[in-house]
Amino acid sequence: MLTPHVAQYHQIALIHEVHADDQYLLNTIDGEWFEILYNFPWEDYRYPAAAYYDALYEFNLRDRQASVGDNETPLETKEQAKQRLLFDRATMQAPQEPSPQILYQGNVVEFKAPEVDPLELAPGVVPLRLIGRKPKCFFGLLKSFIGAPLMGFPAEPEQVHLLLKSNPSFARVCGFAPKEKDKPGQYSCHQIPSLRKLEQFDQVMREAGLWESIKVCEVKTNLQTGVIKKEIELVGDTTHYHAYSGFETVSYEDDKGNIKKKSQSKVTKACRCEDWSICPHDWELTDEGAGTVVKSKTKMYWGHKASVLGLPKQGIAIDAVAISDGATHDGQTFFPHVEKVFGQYPDLAASIERVLYDSACDDADLKVRFGEDLGVELKASFNPRRAKAITSDLPRGIEKITPYGVPICIAGHELDYKGIRYENEKFIYEAPRQDNDESVCVRCSKRVDCCNRSTQSGRTITVSFDTLAHIDPNDPPMAKRFKAIMSRRPSVERMIKRLKCDLGDDRLSKRGNESFQAYLDKTMISYHMLIRHLH
Ligand SMILES: [Zn+2]
Repeated sequence: MLTPHVAQYHQIALIHEVHADDQYLLNTIDGEWFEILYNFPWEDYRYPAAAYYDALYEFNLRDRQASVGDNETPLETKEQAKQRLLFDRATMQAPQEPSPQILYQGNVVEFKAPEVDPLELAPGVVPLRLIGRKPKCFFGLLKSFIGAPLMGFPAEPEQVHLLLKSNPSFARVCGFAPKEKDKPGQYSCHQIPSLRKLEQFDQVMREAGLWESIKVCEVKTNLQTGVIKKEIELVGDTTHYHAYSGFETVSYEDDKGNIKKKSQSKVTKACRCEDWSICPHDWELTDEGAGTVVKSKTKMYWGHKASVLGLPKQGIAIDAVAISDGATHDGQTFFPHVEKVFGQYPDLAASIERVLYDSACDDADLKVRFGEDLGVELKASFNPRRAKAITSDLPRGIEKITPYGVPICIAGHELDYKGIRYENEKFIYEAPRQDNDESVCVRCSKRVDCCNRSTQSGRTITVSFDTLAHIDPNDPPMAKRFKAIMSRRPSVERMIKRLKCDLGDDRLSKRGNESFQAYLDKTMISYHMLIRHLH
């Protein structure tokens, strides 16, 4: 409840207006965004609200005392800066020791009890500590940023501003009113916020780590209330977002003295000095974290990379994290991300027994690491690591065995995998059967050169482990169980599509990993509110 102290200074709306089109929007099918915002449980967000007003207070103070730091470090040329920034990147570190920071980690925000009392806050009630113009209400601003992705737009200030301006129902359900005609030019905290105010809100929330902490709360709520059911598997993959920046190619010398090239974001300075070549401020990358994301030999994108983890049976994404350097190989991102998520959600970690990934993680050492450090089994799509089929030492009538362990006979049939005979170290295969259950061998014209048998059973072959040395007999990818487990892996691609296309855009409109991570967090907040709503 509100204390009399607050009520004395702030007029709270006493009459609850019901608008006819609110009722209409509540009844429309695509009105999910409206229902969610209309029934928004603001009481659950009083702690982030208090933390936000504290951070805003600090932000305003800092803004007034414009930074005038002096820098003692010797002057660095633009070229030196390019090299320094290049060698700082995660993908430029020597393998192991010390292992580079694969996942983006924002500034660690120290937790402190808010100065503002959360229980004194409510929509339209702003703490007294913020002097001057009454600031825009946290709850209205938060709802605006949650609403944009629910309508399919990125949770970025420009889009939010456009929606507030163009959609009066949206503005009103967020708690804003259009400018009153009889008082032009006059400020009111109830008016639709300007683009600058929305940008400031986004920045304060980001720098105070509030987007991330709200995201974690949303996921925890959904886990604890049973909106998300327990599963024994966790699936992961990475995805790229197009960067809002250009790049240049930087030449460098590797440790063997060879000249190599790498694409890198251009360098710039944050200051407004007239001559950057002599001013003492540090050079920095215009778009830290952007890199060349390699999808295949012919497909490469200049972008940011995110790792996404989720529960395959329900198809629900649990976390999305920015990768420090977009050029990082997928095989390196999965372990640190699972480790992070297990740390954040111990209850979830307790139920997970197996993790699934594509062939980028088909690595014996990595499997051991998952088992020993996290106590889970890593199952990855099979990576044969050889392009050519096996054509020598084969049973009679068999033309070749594909790198994936599938034998193909001289009549062109693929043989079915049947199992293993461990005592003599052989894989067993059998000729396939037709729809009438007759073996394809029975009426085969190549029988003379193959089995040459008149029985109905058809051909059975064995292939020694040595012939298929690249296949692990303890986990053969030809087995039905392996295929059944891996059939659940692609569900992560649907989760990615939801986050990237349905609730936003894969073209970024800001630079740097801090903004990218905040963008992922904001999208995840709306995503988990939607899941709860649809439950
Ligand atoms: Zn400068």
